[in-house]
Amino acid sequence: MIRSPKTDQGIVLEDEWPGYDLNLFTYPEHYHGDLENIYIPHGVIMDRTECLARLVVDDTDDNYMVVLCVLKGGYKFCADLVECIKAVSHNTPKHMTVRVEFIRLKSYLNDQSTEDLHIIGPEDLSVITGKNVLIVEGIVDTGKTMKALLKHVKTFQPKMVKVAGLLVKRVPNVVGTLPDYVGFVIPNRFVVGYALDYNEYFRDLNHICVISDQGKVKYKI
Ligand code: 5GP
Repeated sequence: MIRSPKTDQGIVLEDEWPGYDLNLFTYPEHYHGDLENIYIPHGVIMDRTECLARLVVDDTDDNYMVVLCVLKGGYKFCADLVECIKAVSHNTPKHMTVRVEFIRLKSYLNDQSTEDLHIIGPEDLSVITGKNVLIVEGIVDTGKTMKALLKHVKTFQPKMVKVAGLLVKRVPNVVGTLPDYVGFVIPNRFVVGYALDYNEYFRDLNHICVISDQGKVKYKI
């Protein structure tokens, strides 16, 4: 079946979605008590990522792509998405070469967004000039980060820019546009795992989970 980003707007988790009971899955012992539920199990993330990779490959008219991984929260999604893009494209005549670049952004303290958005290197993104670029981000909340990043990226005059976001939050004050490729649309809850952190904790958790009140207190700075 051929799908396009226009018809595939992501798997929607409703506000009432309670997540899975923690006892139904395994997760690191050091996080026992720090999580409320398993919101999206790792296997589901992987299946969805494969699907997004197919959309990316179907949409790309070039066999060269620069993937811009947004650190740190996007690193797992980016690594898995690139693997899937390679696997999918190498099974078609569209044998794609994927170059991966990294950009680091920071705007959160505890579970709150701050006005202070830092783009931390690289200063020079001239490798994207004239190229097809896919920005890969773990989570889009208000869209502020993505809006600022897109503005920065476009100054290097890429041929085309698309955005893949594993998670998009359903929030009232959306600033930017939705990513072209969306894994899951989730309620406005603070989630961790699969590289998404709370003050640098939980990146080593494979599932996406909701942090418990105990977890928030324990790792607060
Ligand atoms: P935005 O600028 O779209 O409001 O926020 C995007 C950034 O906020 C993400 O790159 C991520 O760093 C952080 N963020 C937003 N919501 C969450 C969340 O639920 N969990 C985690 N770990 N980070 C989040």
